[in-house]
Amino acid sequence: RPFGRREEKALIFEVITIFPRMFDSPLAEGVVRKAIDRGLLTVGVHDLRDHADDPHRSTDDYPYGGGGGMVMTAEPIGRAVETLHNGDPRAKVIFLTPQGRPWTQEGARALAREDRVILLCGRYEGVDERVREIYVDEEISIGDYVLTGGELPALVVIDAVARMIPGVLGCAESAEEDSF
Ligand code: SAM
Repeated sequence: RPFGRREEKALIFEVITIFPRMFDSPLAEGVVRKAIDRGLLTVGVHDLRDHADDPHRSTDDYPYGGGGGMVMTAEPIGRAVETLHNGDPRAKVIFLTPQGRPWTQEGARALAREDRVILLCGRYEGVDERVREIYVDEEISIGDYVLTGGELPALVVIDAVARMIPGVLGCAESAEEDSF
């Protein structure tokens, strides 16, 4: 389901998740919604299960090469990333993980300069190691705690980046004035 429309300078996020409905309400409110409505931001939310190739639409399996717990299987993620990447060399693939680089305001500012960002939301014990090796350009953590999935971290990233896009905030709420 695409939120927003593509305009020449819009920043595009493509989210890969097994829980697409988690994005409905946060993207439909406030500054993020305004950015989408004004064509400055586009967020595509994609159900990973659409890329599964079995009748149960499975996305989890035992890890390739062993280890405890279940992980998200490499093949559906690979197909989803390749479809969304669509040969665009500018598309950056980010995996949300507690082991990633800490998410900061500076990181948000840098990401706001990208054209197209694919956000991969983990579940279970994370993703098959091959996904990280083959597809992921960058790993981001939103803090030193473990959540049940990457959807809330992806929304944190989208929210922080949205307000950094030129034209999204009015003068009264300028991002230059931010302190934390
Ligand atoms: N043992 C796993 C690990 O250390 O990666 C924990 C996986 S966690 C239960 C499931 C998913 O939630 C992760 O793959 C990641 O996508 C997401 N996640 C959990 N905590 C996070 C955090 N602090 N920052 C970013 N993503 C997080």
